[in-house]
Amino acid sequence: MKSGGSFQRMIKFSEIHYSRPDTALLVEKINSLTENFKSAKSFDEALNIFDNLEKIQDNVETMYSTAYTRHMIDTKDEFYDGEMRYLDEKLPLLQEAMQTFSLAFFDSPFRNDFEKSYGSLIFKKIEISLKTFSPEIITELQEENKLVTDYSKLIASAQIDFDGEKRTLSQLSPYKLSADDEVREAAWNAEGQFYADNADKLDNLYDDLVKLRDTQAKKMGYENYIPLGYNKMSRESYDKNDVELFRKSVRDHLVPVADRLYRAQAKRLGVSYPLTFADAALSFRTGNPKPQGTSDDILAHAKKFYHELSPETAEFIDALYDGEYFDVLSKKGKAGGGYCTFLPDCRMPFIFANFNNTSHDVDVMTHEAGHAFAFYMSRDFYPSVYRQPTNESCEVHSMSMEFLAWDWAEGFFGKDTNKYKYHHISAALTFIPYGTMVDHFQHIVYENPEMTPAMRHEEWKKLLAIYMPWMKLGEITFYGEGKGWQRQSHIYQRPFYYIDYCLAQTVALQCWADMQSSRDKAWEKYLHFVKNAGKLTFSELVVDAGFELPFGDVFGGSLVKTVTDWIDNFEKSVELK
Ligand SMILES: [Zn+2]
Repeated sequence: MKSGGSFQRMIKFSEIHYSRPDTALLVEKINSLTENFKSAKSFDEALNIFDNLEKIQDNVETMYSTAYTRHMIDTKDEFYDGEMRYLDEKLPLLQEAMQTFSLAFFDSPFRNDFEKSYGSLIFKKIEISLKTFSPEIITELQEENKLVTDYSKLIASAQIDFDGEKRTLSQLSPYKLSADDEVREAAWNAEGQFYADNADKLDNLYDDLVKLRDTQAKKMGYENYIPLGYNKMSRESYDKNDVELFRKSVRDHLVPVADRLYRAQAKRLGVSYPLTFADAALSFRTGNPKPQGTSDDILAHAKKFYHELSPETAEFIDALYDGEYFDVLSKKGKAGGGYCTFLPDCRMPFIFANFNNTSHDVDVMTHEAGHAFAFYMSRDFYPSVYRQPTNESCEVHSMSMEFLAWDWAEGFFGKDTNKYKYHHISAALTFIPYGTMVDHFQHIVYENPEMTPAMRHEEWKKLLAIYMPWMKLGEITFYGEGKGWQRQSHIYQRPFYYIDYCLAQTVALQCWADMQSSRDKAWEKYLHFVKNAGKLTFSELVVDAGFELPFGDVFGGSLVKTVTDWIDNFEKSVELK
């Protein structure tokens, strides 16, 4: 494997020298390299050009991630604010030039040589991506981007009077989990009221998005948006029929188990079944599990965890901490949210988050750091397209790491450790029916683009009865009228993304099940999965690591039994309140 990083030694994030990519010059360079590639006389010549383009892309990505992250850390910094405006405007021009190169690469007379050196998946990936774009749909794509931004702005604009202050929806979130029934219910009501107040806007935005996406698909010769949406998600190894099988298995085997868990929860809380949305959010009368100690304690314990887990994770966490490739504490001027990104020239990932003194802070150090670990393991992969697999596989990296941290949970959660374990495994199971419903809903919507907003709400109600029978629609108008799906931003912003989390959770649960017999064995399988990075498709990664594919009757076998047996025993042996 070649590696072409321009930074030779490990530098700290703060030491990265940012210089603005000159896009006009780069477009010229890419175009001329593309011309040379087309007339290359030998594989060596073609490979050399390909390598040049890899280096250009790596550098642009490094500069972009550096500017973006520095901007997110301090949104008041005028320099990086300006750089982001420049990059957002100019980078699409580079993408266009790279697309032209991709076409030339796809048709290269040296394709066999490239396949021999780097496998055929690189061509499959290009083939799929070429099927997602045509100049004919540029207007619709621009309009789609605008509507997606409008949705984000509308959600971010929320200023809800609550607990003596105006709060955003994310600032309201902790109240929605409060152990105090009155506070929790009030928070759910306040949130529901915001959505009810904006009902028409939310309906119209989605209606326009569905119609635009349907038009794009039809202009490109697709029957409807579903296959185009799958291609946009780069689905390389499964289709709509496979997802249907997964859905059936969820309904047949997982919904009854989740229902049992919610009945137990209602009993534990002393509330009626079916549950209100506010009651379903609270797992224990004494409150949901909270981490112990300060932010520094969590960071220190995370280091201990990765040091003790394996030599690979020990090396990773030292590199991350020594190079200061993370910024996780909340501070003034810092943007909200969290993500993990990669800086190719530094061969390092970066974790951005906002600690808020809930179990979220531990998730950052297990889930997001799981993503970061995978980036770290594939940092030298070549070509760059193999550094990262598709989304479901990336979520296997992170969701399994959450489970692998169980033996260290005590150091994170102290007296709440039992509550944490029970909550974590239950939430993993009960999430899958919800996530599958979100995906099923979108299939119905895009198969019937002519549906009215009112018809879509009716469909959501029907699905709720099938996938979440433990839930009652309740008195909050927003939920009562079947509009609860409008809270799920992916439905507006990233069609068909949601099933990725469900498929990943299914594999992560297998990792958890492996851990019950041997953590070493579970770790080996996990590492095997991670080490292949993007060199295989999702289905190949799963099989190659020795997991079961989620496309048969995956919940009809021993997996669900292993989990439910564990839960039964735990309920009997531990006092949960
Ligand atoms: Zn993730």
